[in-house]
Amino acid sequence: MTKHSKRIPGSRFLHAPGPTRIPDEVLDAMHRQSIDLADPRLDDLIKDCEAGMQAVVGTERGEVYLYSANGHGAWEVAIANVLAEGDAVLIPSTGHFSEGWAIQTEALDRRVIRTPWKPGFPIDPNEVEDVLRADKTGDIKAVFAVQTDTSTGITSDIAAIRQAIDAAKHPALYVVDVVSSLAAAPFAMDAMGVNLVVGGSQKGLMLPPGMGFVVVDERAHQASLDNPSPKFYWDWTKRTGSHAYRKFCGTPPLQMLMGLRAAIDLLQQEGLDQVFARHRRLAGAVFKAIEAWSSAGAIDFFCQVPSARSVSVTAVTVQGFDPEAIRTIAREKFQVAMAGGLGPMAGKVFRIGHLGDMNEPTILGALAGIEAAMLSMGIAIGRDALPRAIDFLID
Ligand SMILES: *Cc1c(COP(=O)(O)O)cnc(C)c1O
Repeated sequence: MTKHSKRIPGSRFLHAPGPTRIPDEVLDAMHRQSIDLADPRLDDLIKDCEAGMQAVVGTERGEVYLYSANGHGAWEVAIANVLAEGDAVLIPSTGHFSEGWAIQTEALDRRVIRTPWKPGFPIDPNEVEDVLRADKTGDIKAVFAVQTDTSTGITSDIAAIRQAIDAAKHPALYVVDVVSSLAAAPFAMDAMGVNLVVGGSQKGLMLPPGMGFVVVDERAHQASLDNPSPKFYWDWTKRTGSHAYRKFCGTPPLQMLMGLRAAIDLLQQEGLDQVFARHRRLAGAVFKAIEAWSSAGAIDFFCQVPSARSVSVTAVTVQGFDPEAIRTIAREKFQVAMAGGLGPMAGKVFRIGHLGDMNEPTILGALAGIEAAMLSMGIAIGRDALPRAIDFLID
């Protein structure tokens, strides 16, 4: 047995913002034999997943396409379908994830217009409006916005960006990445005027990594039909029809679909509004703890705007200590697994995930373990974090 394969009594708390904890009900639902592709139960399974995903993203008519792919695959679905080679897209800068999407878009010979990145701040809808107003020739075909940039723990106002596009009277399609915000922060495709929603399985949806999805309205679908650039695996037209094999451009990921149906059931049993409220409550406890820790000066929120703090994940800045060391001690000694800094934030922050299958004791336990790790390293932190988090949860 290697050092790392030793059994942990109890279990290690997973507080990365993805992959997140998988509920027992989802694991159980996936622990099933494969079925043949002509079995009508497979058609029912796919229909249930599609209808369930419509409810989760808040759309009546949006078409759901599920892919064997991670979030990067879902990004490519958007790029390949709604942008032709040479087309321009506005990607407001939010951090590592807007930049990743932009780089992937440029790699596929589309042109990207970025707004300047303001570390610590959400997307400024006025900047989006200004860029679109300046585009007199309608060169920009779409706006790709990330709802929650998981690297910064900052959530942008998706409805306000829609208003900015409308105020500029610009025809660009509105495409939103909800990979780390869906089933955590409030989102509603139809009510928010989103044309194309892009997501993945392993964050708020509480599934293993490996499935991406998009939800497509009529305008986005038309853009794909009009798009002359080559596409195949990602193409919606090729996936239209009722046959399961065709819908997935090959064999469907059967057990992932079984898990997705179970995860949707859990969300619907709890009620989406209650799911949002639980995330707000648990995130609020984390915020109270960080406020208390920060009173001694060594650590702070990366997010500079309290109302833009994500309910999914919080990035915490550290002065004078390596956040990777905190992360290692928290994981190896106190059984709390967190995430580190990505891209420009590498070595500057640790990130506490608080989305998905979480409740009060998991959050309080995680905060206690993180506090223990910081104290064991001699980091100056305020000591009333846990009492403040508990008071917040009692209220
Ligand atoms: C995780 C994430 C992605 C990428 O998903 P992968 O499954 O890792 O490819 C994209 N966007 C956001 C906001 C994410 O959090």
